[in-house]
Amino acid sequence: MRRDPRYRFLLNTNPNHYEIHDLDNEKIGANECQINEIIRGGNYKYLIGTTLNDLLSWLRNHPEYDGCEYCLPSYHRK
Ligand SMILES: [Zn+2]
Repeated sequence: MRRDPRYRFLLNTNPNHYEIHDLDNEKIGANECQINEIIRGGNYKYLIGTTLNDLLSWLRNHPEYDGCEYCLPSYHRK
């Protein structure tokens, strides 16, 4: 679920994770996306843009990041 309607994709900027979540497909089970925990920890940024194309072009320029295995499994690599 989006916390702000302008932002669909949330980055976990913790270097141990470096992953991106799709808040429109957030999974809230134990050990799944854990968005509230990421926000509480302060290790996050929002991606500008809300389309899949915005996500893909951002990922092309940031190969250290991959998709969350729960909400973006097609882009999960690590
Ligand atoms: Zn996720």
